[in-house]
Amino acid sequence: MSTKNSNPENNSIKEWLAVLPSKRIRTLRLVSQITFFLLFNGVIFGFSRTNFPLPVVLPPGAPYATFWGGFSALQYILANGQFPFLVLGVFFLTGSLFGKLTCGWACPIGFWQDFLSMFANLGFVEKLKVSRPTNKELQDIGGFFLWGSVIITGFFGLQRLNGDLTGGEFWTFIPYGVIDPAGTMFVTFFYALIWGVFDLSGNGSLLDNLDLLFFVKSIVLVIFTYVSIKIPRAYCRWICPTGALLGYTSGNSLIAIKRNAAKCVDGCNACEKACPTDVPITEENPDGIENNLCISCGNCVDACPDAMSFGFRF
Ligand code: SF4
Ligand code: SF4
Repeated sequence: MSTKNSNPENNSIKEWLAVLPSKRIRTLRLVSQITFFLLFNGVIFGFSRTNFPLPVVLPPGAPYATFWGGFSALQYILANGQFPFLVLGVFFLTGSLFGKLTCGWACPIGFWQDFLSMFANLGFVEKLKVSRPTNKELQDIGGFFLWGSVIITGFFGLQRLNGDLTGGEFWTFIPYGVIDPAGTMFVTFFYALIWGVFDLSGNGSLLDNLDLLFFVKSIVLVIFTYVSIKIPRAYCRWICPTGALLGYTSGNSLIAIKRNAAKCVDGCNACEKACPTDVPITEENPDGIENNLCISCGNCVDACPDAMSFGFRF
């Protein structure tokens, strides 16, 4: 009797392993995302906290964060009346060299969205598709939050420099933090649990302990979660101010996703079907994708390793 099918569990592991070579970048990326997630929360392992800003989302006040999310740092520094040289330098260098590689391979909120989109990928929920023009137009929202926060913090920075404002509420330092879903998930909910806001057996009722802001934050988080389940990387594509800031240089980055047009089969579109942010890859410059929707995830390279590759733009 053949032993080939005697253990279905072994067979499924073999099938899974057989698929791995065609998903080799996705597998590497998963390892990278887990590693960075642990590194960014390294305080839990005894690493020191630093104020160095990185071009990823790490909400201010995250209990175990080892670095500072670049966009939070930008707001905080402006709100204190200083110019964010280091933050802008980090964003400029990262975007110019690597594009949005940090979005695809390191950012914890990008990683979380990849996890949420698994429900649609596995067929548990139906994916929502948006048209290309809408996909492009909605990107303006990220720019709106970016520049809105810069204007607000710049205003408070000037007031503090003039001595018209001392101290102030959290939102006068990091205004975007008020609705930032990452902050709600990793900071507000964390402390709400630690401080027992959800504990009905404590003093007062649940409603006594919750304020309006908490409800607003929770509603934003629910919308974020729902949309991320239905539309892969929706927050990255349209809303994230960190991604919007990186996008100013990512389109001309040294390392880019390239397409060998000679090996590209007309009408195949396997690369575009694999792309989580719906980049119109076949309409892009073959010498390097310039579209700032691209998060350098490499899904298109996995889908078509003959024609797609990571490489130098110039
Ligand atoms: S766009 Fe924003 S949330 Fe998405 S991966 Fe980049 S930094 Fe993270
Ligand atoms: S174009 Fe390729 S690398 Fe860029 S986001 Fe789409 S699948 Fe990922």
